[in-house]
Amino acid sequence: ERSASRQSRKKVVAVVGGGLVGALNACFFAKRGFDVELFESREDIRRAKIVKGRSINLALSHRGRQALKHVGLEEKIVAQGIPMHARMIHSLDGKQSPIPYGRKGQYILSVDRANLNKELLTAAETYPNTKMNFDHKLQDWNAETGLMTFVRLDGSKEQVKADLIVGCDGAFSAVRKQFLRRSRFDYSQTYIPHGYMELTMPPINGEFAMKPNYLHIWPRNTFMMIALPNLDKTFTCTLFMPFEDFEKITTGDEVIEFFQKYFPDTIPLIGADTLQRDYFRLPAQAMVSVKCNPYHIGDTCVLMGDAAHAVVPFYGQGMNAGFEDCIVFDEIMDQFNEDFRAVLPEYTRVRVPDDHAIADLAMYNYIEMRAHVNSKWFIFRKYVDNILHFFMPKTIIPLYTMVTFTRTRYHEAVKRWHWQNKIRLLVLGSVLNCLIWPVLAASALIDSWTAGIFTASLVN
Ligand code: FAD
Repeated sequence: ERSASRQSRKKVVAVVGGGLVGALNACFFAKRGFDVELFESREDIRRAKIVKGRSINLALSHRGRQALKHVGLEEKIVAQGIPMHARMIHSLDGKQSPIPYGRKGQYILSVDRANLNKELLTAAETYPNTKMNFDHKLQDWNAETGLMTFVRLDGSKEQVKADLIVGCDGAFSAVRKQFLRRSRFDYSQTYIPHGYMELTMPPINGEFAMKPNYLHIWPRNTFMMIALPNLDKTFTCTLFMPFEDFEKITTGDEVIEFFQKYFPDTIPLIGADTLQRDYFRLPAQAMVSVKCNPYHIGDTCVLMGDAAHAVVPFYGQGMNAGFEDCIVFDEIMDQFNEDFRAVLPEYTRVRVPDDHAIADLAMYNYIEMRAHVNSKWFIFRKYVDNILHFFMPKTIIPLYTMVTFTRTRYHEAVKRWHWQNKIRLLVLGSVLNCLIWPVLAASALIDSWTAGIFTASLVN
């Protein structure tokens, strides 16, 4: 057993998981001067040939950017991202219609997950008070003593003690397992019936095969495909579909038949041969939504990122919410003078309602994106919202704008959205009223006039 403590006044913080949130969190704690030890089960991805992980690229927005800014990384990461100003909806007949994300100048960024993770690890390592431990998989830990047991690839074990354990080890968190053994810990997990599969759309003559500054969407009601641009001028297309539909397609010909029917414009862009090959390269991946409460145990352990709240990826907020966790924790550390006994419960109190709200919103968008986005009613509502936002910018703020381009607390954004829906109905009602009365009055006038002519014709 080794105590991670070095000869310093500062406490030792063990960050378990060196993914996006763990690596960023290591920077936050190191910046405060703690002795930080990061433990990651994989080898160092900066030296690995193949980096296994989830989606190849993801959408970074305001909350994530604010967190990166806090550790001086925003500019660097933004410079390596591709702005997406609007959704580009592809209809079945190949027609493309943009729907902007917000006002002019508001955009989300397509960033490369592996590159972002590498940059964050390198940033964490630049602090002299941070030690990185790769090939350290947390096997178990003791909530009473804070003693953690790690296994290495060669089968050896190492025991380490820390003052604070920060669980950033993702949706299937090993840190969270200890929470599950305790009383009064709420936990739920839901797998959605859809899986996802990634396909690459190569450049054509060295250029992007489609317009690059958009998040392309092919909504097909019960399933959909999206595509985000990469710096190497490829697009990563992600097909979201119920597992049972994925399983129905078993031959190369069936793949082409399926794409011909639902995504015909993409066949020449991805390439029929590539499609037939890549569809069977990897099985579709599952998506899980995890909610729990509380996020802490005493003053020794706290969960952040997907370990605390895995959300389905349809609002593009999983990483952004995880990055915001780091800012919220940091703000509370200021408020309570780094006293873990006060900080941890306050973090749970403040953050749980917000992370639960974004989990619900992501589920809601799961249907909105594949089905509603297609409908005239959706486009009309977006249109009305934008007009109302223009005339009443302080009263009506579209939900997507609040979630993506502000740090309005997620649960407040939801409350406000419900309230705004009522206002919108009221405004629409009044507009209709204004239109209906003149129409009714005119009809009454025409009615009496035509009736007069008719009576006159009878008399004559
Ligand atoms: P992870 O990224 O899962 O990292 C966890 C780390 O912990 C990993 O490095 C893992 O190796 C390590 N680990 C696991 N177990 C142990 C252990 N026992 N011991 C030590 N280390 C361990 N979010 C967005 O904001 N925008 C998007 O556009 C977006 N798109 C997405 C698309 C898809 C298809 C998916 C699946 C997710 C998407 N997300 C998106 C969500 C985002 O990927 C996650 O929210 C984010 O990766 C969470 O980061 P994390 O560090 O908490 O967890």
